[in-house]
Amino acid sequence: MKVYPGKSILKEIAIGRIQFHSKEEHTVSRESISDTKQEWERYLKAKEQAADELNTLYEKALKEVGETGAAIFEVHGMMLDDDDFNDSVKNIIEAQEVNAEYAVASTGDNFSQMFAQMDDEYFQARSADIKDIAERVVRILLGKHKEQNTDNEPFILVAEDLAPSETVQMDKSKLLGFVTELGSSNSHTAILARTMNIPALIGIPVSEEMDGMLAIIDGVEGKMILEPDAAVLEEYRKKKAESEKRKVLLQQLKGKEDITLDGKKIRLYANIGGIGDVASVLSNDADGIGLFRSEFLYLEKETYPTEEEQFQAYRTVVETMGKKKVIIRTLDIGADKQADYFQLGHEDNPAMGYRAIRICLDRPEIFKTQLRAILMASAYGNVGIMYPMIISVEEVIRAKQYLEEAKAQLDQRGIRYGEVEQGIMIETPASVMISGQLAKEVDFFSIGTNDLTQYTLAIDRQNAKLDNIYDSHHPAVLEMIRMTVENGHKENCWVGICGELGADTTLTETFLKMGVDELSVSPGRVLPIREIIRNTRINP
Ligand code: PEP
Ligand code: MG
Repeated sequence: MKVYPGKSILKEIAIGRIQFHSKEEHTVSRESISDTKQEWERYLKAKEQAADELNTLYEKALKEVGETGAAIFEVHGMMLDDDDFNDSVKNIIEAQEVNAEYAVASTGDNFSQMFAQMDDEYFQARSADIKDIAERVVRILLGKHKEQNTDNEPFILVAEDLAPSETVQMDKSKLLGFVTELGSSNSHTAILARTMNIPALIGIPVSEEMDGMLAIIDGVEGKMILEPDAAVLEEYRKKKAESEKRKVLLQQLKGKEDITLDGKKIRLYANIGGIGDVASVLSNDADGIGLFRSEFLYLEKETYPTEEEQFQAYRTVVETMGKKKVIIRTLDIGADKQADYFQLGHEDNPAMGYRAIRICLDRPEIFKTQLRAILMASAYGNVGIMYPMIISVEEVIRAKQYLEEAKAQLDQRGIRYGEVEQGIMIETPASVMISGQLAKEVDFFSIGTNDLTQYTLAIDRQNAKLDNIYDSHHPAVLEMIRMTVENGHKENCWVGICGELGADTTLTETFLKMGVDELSVSPGRVLPIREIIRNTRINP
């Protein structure tokens, strides 16, 4: 038995076998062969298996994340059948009398380079797909048939690091928890873990040898126990059972109102990253969605999601939520949320760089495509729009103008849309300081305490070394929240918190006393917060 201290992302326990997640890269050697016909046959067989795998992945993704997320596997299937790709593999095998692995890897490299150099952004983005396809066929040819995450047993995922885009594509139904060596507790991968209610630890030295071992994630004390002995295993099974019992007790709060002892109704909403999270919003009985991080729709794709794809995703969420509010945050890409096809380029200081509303105002076609999709979805329910990373009144005015242009475009096309509330995220000290003026422009504020802490304390939220001083309880952050509420209310603007601090039950009472109107938290935190709201008196 070995104990590894780490930093906890969610105060829960997980017990299970480890699956080590390594970035798959296969070394391919060039071998001379005499029977080129047989080598070509080997390729055709491997190609057939790759097509089967892609089909299975497509079906699975369709069920879990819908058409938008699944489409990529369909595209891969089509590319695998591409005549030019197949002719090239054949030529290399026959002309150079080499093994199929080498021919596929070379073709993959050549084609992906060719695509990367094209002017058209769509084709540039295909470069990564070609590499993926070639990798898949090479893996099969090398006899490494097993796909990761296809075992039926639930598992604890252990990896050196996980990008938000990798996390969003994972099979959540089998994921008991995850452990990484790198990453910070405020990164988007960590936030996704909380949204999915998955116990997770970071800062643990990991190695491939851990694969298959039994492990316990203790998110309460922040440690991983590898190969626990029988007594420890039993102790944790009991702890887990107790925590399950508490969850059952909380279930009794379902259907109850979010109302304080002195009668103030609080909007208790949930945060989501995509369609897949809506089920847990409903099962935890949130009264709406206070933050739909729309950028994950972009991160799971290899190129810009179209207006139609976005509309389908937003409509699904909005329809599923019925009359309940769904606040869609416009694209907040940049910093740790990178998609290659945006070609954002290298930045020395990306957290303070070209991101979020700055990109949207600079690339209006991308922005207006999203705004039209949101507006179209608003015809099906109760939608709000909010703009991230605001620092000036001018940005808000411009964003609102683009929304008007998007409406005019829909009017021209005869497409209907509903009334949408407009709000902004308060996540920069600048927006707090001018919140009195900003409040005149919008219907609501949503305080993003993750970034607000980062910019107020000048501490990079991604920097694991500074995790211990990244303190959202800092008096400066709390005072900023108080100021924002006060200034918002003077202009009849309702004010919520959608950053991770909103779920901190040690502060719920403080926030309610400050006058906060809405708390938007990861779905698993809704009922614990409801319990506090119902037991709090705001006025003495
Ligand atoms: C925040 O900054 O608090 C927030 C909610 O946005 P994100 O974490 O996605 O940056
Ligand atoms: Mg933010």
